[in-house]
Amino acid sequence: MYIFKRVNDIKKHIESLKEKGKTIGFIPTMGALHDGHISLIKETKTDIKVCSIFVNPTQFNDIKDLEKYPRTPSKDIDLLLESKSCDILFMPTVEEIYPLNFKAIDFDFGNIGNIMEGEFRPGHFQGMANVVHRLLEIINPDELIMGQKDFQQVAIVNLMLKQTKSNTKLVMLETKREKDGLAMSSRNIRLNESERNLAPLIYKNLLISKKNALDGHDFRTIESKFIENIEANKEFKVEYANIVDGTSLNIINNITDINYLVMCIATWLGNVRLIDNIIIKN
Ligand code: AMP
Repeated sequence: MYIFKRVNDIKKHIESLKEKGKTIGFIPTMGALHDGHISLIKETKTDIKVCSIFVNPTQFNDIKDLEKYPRTPSKDIDLLLESKSCDILFMPTVEEIYPLNFKAIDFDFGNIGNIMEGEFRPGHFQGMANVVHRLLEIINPDELIMGQKDFQQVAIVNLMLKQTKSNTKLVMLETKREKDGLAMSSRNIRLNESERNLAPLIYKNLLISKKNALDGHDFRTIESKFIENIEANKEFKVEYANIVDGTSLNIINNITDINYLVMCIATWLGNVRLIDNIIIKN
């Protein structure tokens, strides 16, 4: 596995691979790698797999969240080596990604950017879309691989790729879960023991919500019931639980209304903010 820290070095290396006709797949991450990240890399089908680790400061609306974000670079490298899944690792500094002449793009994502994560984390998607755009400029991959775990993020990146007329194909891969159903996340290591024991309730209640939606129950009642069930434990504080159209992310009222339906949720568990989702119908 090659490790690059400098933009010019990785660019040159990737250009030489492209000249040899190799296809490039790119998996951006913020590190503190877990099996969810590794499964994305393993399932990538291109000749060369490039993973990046960069904790992007511009996508954190809360400075404390940025400070507390787990950083485990040497463990990450070990995990990547052990998995034998990654060909190139890019670990740039903030200065490499944002040189003095860097100019952020002011994207307009409309409703998709303003609801759910957009509402509760103002500025998050502008920062995320800009860093993905910048990384794509550097790596210029054939495929960009992202996890369903961050469903709204995938929808935003899809829009960004269209708006910038990018040739990169976006591939969304399934959420990898712990045995008890908890979606793997870098933030899970910040849960204390009792919070960790409660965390599987999120997926359990997403499964119940999915069943009730498919059985024709009222969607607003399903969402309220989800919140009620989770918040029966005082450690949880749900920010949103919405059944939405998987493409427009508009709120949907009825199982017959639409073919692609997803329930997206965000909740605090103690001091840790967790997100998850379930595809109800596709
Ligand atoms: P992050 O490091 O959390 O920014 O995530 C980097 C990429 O890994 C994103 O595309 C995430 O959606 C994806 N990812 C994070 N957790 C999981 C998971 N449990 N299963 C699959 N993909 C994931």
